[in-house]
Amino acid sequence: MAKIFVTLHGMKSLLYKIQGAGHWKRHFASSLQKPCEVRARFAPSPTGNLHLGGLRTALYNFLFAKSNKGKFILRIEDTDQTRLVPHAARKLENMLSWAKIYPDESPVVGGPFGPYVQSQRLSLYNNYVKNLLENGSAYKCFCTNMRLTRLRNDAIRRNEIPRYDNKCRYLSQSKIEELGKNGTPYCIRFKLETITEPYEDLIYGSILSNVADHESDFVIMKTDGYPTYHLANVVDDHLMGITHVLRGVEWQISTPKHLLLYKAFGWSAPLFGHLPLIVNQDGSKLSKRQHDLHIEYYQDQGYFPEAVLNFVTDIGGGFDDREHGVVLSIEDLLEKFNLSRLTKNSCRLDKDKLEQFNQLDLQRRLNSPTDILLLISQLHDLVQKTYGERLSSSTTQAKVLTADYLKRVLIYFEKRIVRLQDLLQPEFAYIWVVPDSIPIEELPAMSCKHAEVLRCVLQVISSISNFNKERIVEEIKDVSRQYGLKIPAIMKLIRMTVTGMKEGPPVGEMLYMLGQDTAVERMKHALTLL
Ligand code: GLU
Repeated sequence: MAKIFVTLHGMKSLLYKIQGAGHWKRHFASSLQKPCEVRARFAPSPTGNLHLGGLRTALYNFLFAKSNKGKFILRIEDTDQTRLVPHAARKLENMLSWAKIYPDESPVVGGPFGPYVQSQRLSLYNNYVKNLLENGSAYKCFCTNMRLTRLRNDAIRRNEIPRYDNKCRYLSQSKIEELGKNGTPYCIRFKLETITEPYEDLIYGSILSNVADHESDFVIMKTDGYPTYHLANVVDDHLMGITHVLRGVEWQISTPKHLLLYKAFGWSAPLFGHLPLIVNQDGSKLSKRQHDLHIEYYQDQGYFPEAVLNFVTDIGGGFDDREHGVVLSIEDLLEKFNLSRLTKNSCRLDKDKLEQFNQLDLQRRLNSPTDILLLISQLHDLVQKTYGERLSSSTTQAKVLTADYLKRVLIYFEKRIVRLQDLLQPEFAYIWVVPDSIPIEELPAMSCKHAEVLRCVLQVISSISNFNKERIVEEIKDVSRQYGLKIPAIMKLIRMTVTGMKEGPPVGEMLYMLGQDTAVERMKHALTLL
């Protein structure tokens, strides 16, 4: 199949060179596409990091395409050169891979309908604009920025919504020729016409919006020869054989314009569905600057892709039989996906849910023989990165980085942490490094010397043959009886000398987690400090 595509693609470029981009191209493209194959796409502009809203759009298009045995396409819409952020396009594709949303066709993967970056398709848009000029659906607008600004200011002064007065729509042919001869710069505008028929939004149902009532003819080609979003988006969706467009509800106002463009070209339009707005928990609008909405942020912070995907899908619906408290894999999401169950209401983000999903997914991974190995190696790297220098001066250095030790720590904290990174918090430093000091003034008051008791504990702990928390506690209780000490006091002494902290997990569990060797070394070290 791939071979056929290569050959067809080669032929396509040849034909393109011979004939220029014309309608044949659409027909050729269609012949590459299986009849009735669903083709959905994600078409981000590379203006920054992928954020939660973008991820949701990509995911629902992916799920929709895949659940219909169709194709999912990634196209980069970079025609607004003023808003480009370097490397953003590559990072977007990387982030999608991190989330396991793999496109069938994209700038990196390639495909029979490429290039998949709009700035590499510029000559093509010019040809299509010519078609619209020729069939009278578009016209050259020679209005200067100064005139447009004056119109805008006048409207504001009159308390009206600023809009262009469509002046150039009515220029005579001779005037157009004269301005053209003088080299007067122009943009190209599309003639808006009245819409009388509603369209069926896949999510919101029947929508009738007569854009010509409140907007004027819009620009499709800018003075610099770059197409605008509207034109490039429609031309590419058509040429790439897109059958369904799922996009954020903020684009719903553009859809009537796009439908008019399809009509002007004589093309049939894809079906459109608009995904409800995602808002903060208090209902306020999300801001693109909220860094904790960027997918990179979640990745850096150690959230798992599945947790993020569940977080973003949990709020808007779109799935059959979704149980609470269960993290769905991308395969599960695919199996349960049902577009008709998508909500129309704004979706409020509940950040606690992200924590819950991550914790659940962490537990699931810890129970998988292969995933746990990965977690161990990730934790190893995190500990080394965070405590590197202190580890090299520590006597237990080699031990805390062993797979056995890391695994024991992970299993012990399974239900108490959300991310691996939590284990690097100062309160857990004792797991990795020997405490620098012991707050001697805060040690529990005792009738005998602290060091003496600790020496005795050290002796019994080091001689336990079956090292488990019950045995540890029994031995410590024996020592407390021997010295006539209260159990909480001796526990506190051990905790403080071993960890340098007043609070922490129960001593039996903690010593078990540290392991016999480490526990013994910690106590020996504490004795030198006392
Ligand atoms: N380039 C637009 C965006 O940045 C695409 C909108 C659409 O999907 O049509 O989201």
